[in-house]
Amino acid sequence: MDDIRRVRAACPASQFFFVGVPRTLDRMVELMRAGIDITIQRDEQMAALLSSVLNLVQTHEPERYRILVVEDSRVAIAQIQRALKQHGIDSFTIPDPSRLFEAIEDYGPDLVLMDMYMPGCNGVEATRALRQLSAYQALPIVYLSSETDVGLQVEALRLGGDQFLTKPFNPVLLAATVKTTIERHQEMRRASRHDGLTGLLNHTAAKAELDVRLAMVPADGRLTVAMLDIDHFKSVNDAYGHPVGDQVIRSLAWLLKGWLRATDVIGRYGGEEFIIAMPGINVGEARGVLDGIRTHFANLPHVHATGSLRVTFSAGVAAFPHFTKASDLIAAADQALLQAKALGRNQVVEARIPKPD
Ligand code: GH3
Ligand code: MG
Ligand code: MG
Ligand code: MG
Repeated sequence: MDDIRRVRAACPASQFFFVGVPRTLDRMVELMRAGIDITIQRDEQMAALLSSVLNLVQTHEPERYRILVVEDSRVAIAQIQRALKQHGIDSFTIPDPSRLFEAIEDYGPDLVLMDMYMPGCNGVEATRALRQLSAYQALPIVYLSSETDVGLQVEALRLGGDQFLTKPFNPVLLAATVKTTIERHQEMRRASRHDGLTGLLNHTAAKAELDVRLAMVPADGRLTVAMLDIDHFKSVNDAYGHPVGDQVIRSLAWLLKGWLRATDVIGRYGGEEFIIAMPGINVGEARGVLDGIRTHFANLPHVHATGSLRVTFSAGVAAFPHFTKASDLIAAADQALLQAKALGRNQVVEARIPKPD
């Protein structure tokens, strides 16, 4: 513990991970008091460590949070805006909920701070309406309500509001509540979008992200999709056991993260299959990059109980604008992957460009 405290004091800005913590509250608290930021339990060691580190590496400069304030009282608006601004939080205010949907659409807030009593409808009604729109079902909402609204508070809780603050509010508590609600929400969203074994995007999130990236590509732009599949993976499991297989999957995930750009999309598409989307890269360039990764991976020793083994992967690549829809890009890359397997594995194959009709 003294060692941890000493290193902590010497490196105040660093993130400290402690690997191999028993799952007991007092031990975890003790470590955190000594200055550990993240404790990784004994039984989830590698997966948790990898995803936490990947998470850390991917975290860019913290963005300023954006709050949409729905409030009719001018006095309250001034107080709220001052409190948020003092804590480095941006805000935009609308005086009643009539333009709530438009304001959310235009401003793109991380959280809505909602008054209870307003002209038109109350905060709970506005929240209920908002929750009917699938895009905003998870948008965090914090109510600001006067202390007498106990009935409404209960109703608001029942209808899934995230937090309650009472007026008159404490500015420090307001800013802290807003920040922690956003952070918890983002952490939950992260967990639901990422794969537990590798920390990469999961199947659903990777496909959704491909759609987003594809929509951003200009008509004369480029985007290449690759499908990767580990070769003869069943025999790795059969010969060395599932945990060694898991380690091979993680190693490939780690390698992809390290070799590709932060702007590339990397997902675990299925068991030992990965999907990659590389914006601004044509099919030939993508093939070059993947061949580099492939060679590196093929030479990587994977340790097992009695020695080490080598594993390879095959890949298929297909590019926009030869294919324009996400599903067509995936299908074409998959087809090319099958061909890579048929040609003997451990290679990258480009999709056949469709003939114009
Ligand atoms: P091919 O070269 O044709 O791709 O052969 P293969 O053996 O890799 O192909 P196949 O799809 O038949 O086998 C994939 C195996 O991957 C089957 C499954 O048991 C294993 N697998 C899937 N998910 C996981 C996982 O999360 N961990 C481990 N260890 N194995 C997994
Ligand atoms: Mg009011
Ligand atoms: Mg497979
Ligand atoms: Mg396979």
